[in-house]
Amino acid sequence: MSIFLILLVAVLIVFGVPDIRRSLISKPVFRVFKKILPPMSATEREAMEAGDVWWDGELFSGRPDWFKLLNTKPHGFSAEEQAFIDGPLEELLAMLDDFKINTEGHDLPPEVWAHLRKHRFFAMIIGKEYGGLDFSATANSHIVSRIATRSLSAAVTVMVPNSLGPGELLTHYGTMEQKEHWLPALAKGDEIPCFALTGPEAGSDAGGIPDTGVVCKGTFNGEEVVGIKLNWSKRYITLAPVATVLGLAFKLYDPEQLLGEQEEIGITCALIPTSHDGVEIGDRHLPLMQAFMNGTTYGKDVFIPLDWIIGGVKYAGKGWRMLVECLSAGRGISLPALATATGHNVQRFTGAYAFVRQQFGLPIGKFEGVQEAMGRIGGLNYSIESMRRLTLTALDEGYSPSVITAMTKYHMTEMGRQVLNDGLDVHAGKGIQMGPLNYLASNYMGIPISITVEGANILTRNLMIFGQGATRCHPYVLAEMEAAANPDEEAGLRNFDQLLIKHIGFAVSNTFASLWHGLTGARFANAPVGGETIRYYQQLSRMSRALALCADVSMLTMGGDLKRKEMISARLGDVLSHLYIGSAILKRFEDDGRQVADLPFVHYAMQLQLHLIGQAFRGFFKNFPNPWLGRLLSVLVFPWGNRYDKPADAHAQAIADSMMEPGVLRDRHTFLSYWKDDEEDVTGHMELAFTHMVANIELFKKVYKAQKQGVLDSNLNGDALVQAAVAEEVISTEEGEKLAVAERLRLRAIAVDSFAAEAMKSGRYQTQPLR
Ligand SMILES: Cc1cc2nc3c(=O)[nH]c(=O)nc-3n(C[C@H](O)[C@H](O)[C@H](O)COP(=O)(O)OP(=O)(O)OC[C@H]3O[C@@H](n4cnc5c(N)ncnc54)[C@H](O)[C@@H]3O)c2cc1C
Repeated sequence: MSIFLILLVAVLIVFGVPDIRRSLISKPVFRVFKKILPPMSATEREAMEAGDVWWDGELFSGRPDWFKLLNTKPHGFSAEEQAFIDGPLEELLAMLDDFKINTEGHDLPPEVWAHLRKHRFFAMIIGKEYGGLDFSATANSHIVSRIATRSLSAAVTVMVPNSLGPGELLTHYGTMEQKEHWLPALAKGDEIPCFALTGPEAGSDAGGIPDTGVVCKGTFNGEEVVGIKLNWSKRYITLAPVATVLGLAFKLYDPEQLLGEQEEIGITCALIPTSHDGVEIGDRHLPLMQAFMNGTTYGKDVFIPLDWIIGGVKYAGKGWRMLVECLSAGRGISLPALATATGHNVQRFTGAYAFVRQQFGLPIGKFEGVQEAMGRIGGLNYSIESMRRLTLTALDEGYSPSVITAMTKYHMTEMGRQVLNDGLDVHAGKGIQMGPLNYLASNYMGIPISITVEGANILTRNLMIFGQGATRCHPYVLAEMEAAANPDEEAGLRNFDQLLIKHIGFAVSNTFASLWHGLTGARFANAPVGGETIRYYQQLSRMSRALALCADVSMLTMGGDLKRKEMISARLGDVLSHLYIGSAILKRFEDDGRQVADLPFVHYAMQLQLHLIGQAFRGFFKNFPNPWLGRLLSVLVFPWGNRYDKPADAHAQAIADSMMEPGVLRDRHTFLSYWKDDEEDVTGHMELAFTHMVANIELFKKVYKAQKQGVLDSNLNGDALVQAAVAEEVISTEEGEKLAVAERLRLRAIAVDSFAAEAMKSGRYQTQPLR
């Protein structure tokens, strides 16, 4: 006992007396910390520091304040936004025919381009003072998503000028003259912008672009001025083939020191009219057969004046920071909007098709194997929509959350890919045969586009989410790094000492809390609500503690190496992401008024998120470089074992059943999905076939039963079947009339396209009449 007391007093003295603590603990740790800090280039530092921390910081803190989350309110639409959605957007959707766009002329038809320009679809992020629409992130996302449910090519065409590019860069950094010159013309669609960063030698590593600008004297408009001589070769540039203004990123050098003392100025962005001497717009690419404009651009020794630099000379060399800052917003809206479109469309039409398509006299959606896939579709679509809403809430509150938008881009596009795969499996041959009757295939082909752009997904998962999350969202690490980088070592140490004490307290409390929550099944963890979802809040609180603990241990033991240990750090990034998605799901359930009918979706989605957290931790513990430490962490976090199972089958079955029921729930969950109120259009037809079959299912059952019993020929279908059923008095004449309509709709709903062989040879896809 006395030894224990002596030890306790010694610890209290060491930690409690600042001078002793500083020399015995903080100073040596400070030195080690400085050594293990990963070497960071200026570009990496700028990227790391750009953007804001929001709910991700709470999740990393080990003690998320759930009330704070639930008290933030999602953004509605302004009267103007609503009028646009009800008017020009609906008109546009009715004009779009994706199959024609992708096969005839490989472009949007002239009337669609005209409609987009006239109604300022390209000006959603441009301020009203310049003639733009100045829409919220929520409206922007809604519009792009809805267009994408109709045509991916049209959605990408609208999305690009409203995402990272000239419009946004000018709005944030442009000089007054630049704004007044370009923004009104961009808003009207008189100027079409593109933004060129990527080239053959620099894709993901965009900071390493080889394109150069050299400050020199040259002739512009007949006068000798100081300007920039540019050389570039860019590829994959969306809208380049039709652009009238090129946003260009290049590395600026000033060997003659005409601008100042610095010779290597750094990444710079300029705006160049594509009609300018020497600007070459090359040929078009063909991105997965989608018709949106995408291509190359080159320039050799092209001279431009200095005032074409976006923001003017004072922004020379600041291009990387500008791009990273602006990326945060666009990355949380555009590509996630494409994934949302996939989720809504696949849920709506797979539900309908799974009912309309019958095998062995039963809708295929009644078979358990199909229900498993449908459960995933419904559960993931619920998660996609929840994540979309939460991220938009942050953006519309004025945050520019870099880690959250990276998680949103990565996970929403990955969930979209999974949903589409499941949708295609359920549709089988109907999903594969391309043509106007196929509402999935074009999207299926195009999905890797959203996986690749604005940060290819592997890189986003492995480098960005945890790499940035660990420093930006951690309550102390960034401040400690700043203290370590302080050129005044004494001041840095003083600061570091204060932070270290708090950090140690944080780590100790996370260790005990993780074990406590593990032992008690998180029954004492905090939750802001009661009822069926309380346990999910508690489990997320528990896993938030576990993440904080494991992140600290990883950073402490691996230091700078953690950056290279992508497989380890990405798993912690996965935990953060699934905590975020889980929070989004729970918040949506509250925001939607805790609708009982949504519970199967919430249970499925939450169980999946927890299961994925469990899997990420399993891989993390198993592959931790120090196996003993890995095992110790595993015992601290899961003392009774890792028990987060996959979603229960019953939830998948309940989801499948509700996907096959027309009505409010189906409409609420797929409200972004466009279907044309026209029987000739495949979407309108599918809706009609579905509702008629549901309404007349008892008649179908009577007829199928009679076929099974041999009362009716089992090979009959269509009108012949209905006539025979009436003749044999299986159904009445009146019932026969209803059944005839439903049966005709059914036959067309399961039909696929076929094309005249000769027409195909000439590249004309004239669909054959149905037989
Ligand atoms: C249809 C389309 C439209 C586009 N539009 C534009 C545009 O308008 N403007 C523009 O400037 N660019 C545009 N891009 C370019 C796009 O941003 C790049 O394709 C993207 O940055 C990836 O570059 P890359 O294709 O060269 O892949 P690479 O950089 O070669 O990467 C290959 C793979 O390696 C992974 N990877 C790379 N480094 C790491 C790492 N350190 N850790 C883990 N994984 C890593 C990547 O995730 C990827 O999976 C477009 C691309 C496409 C396909």
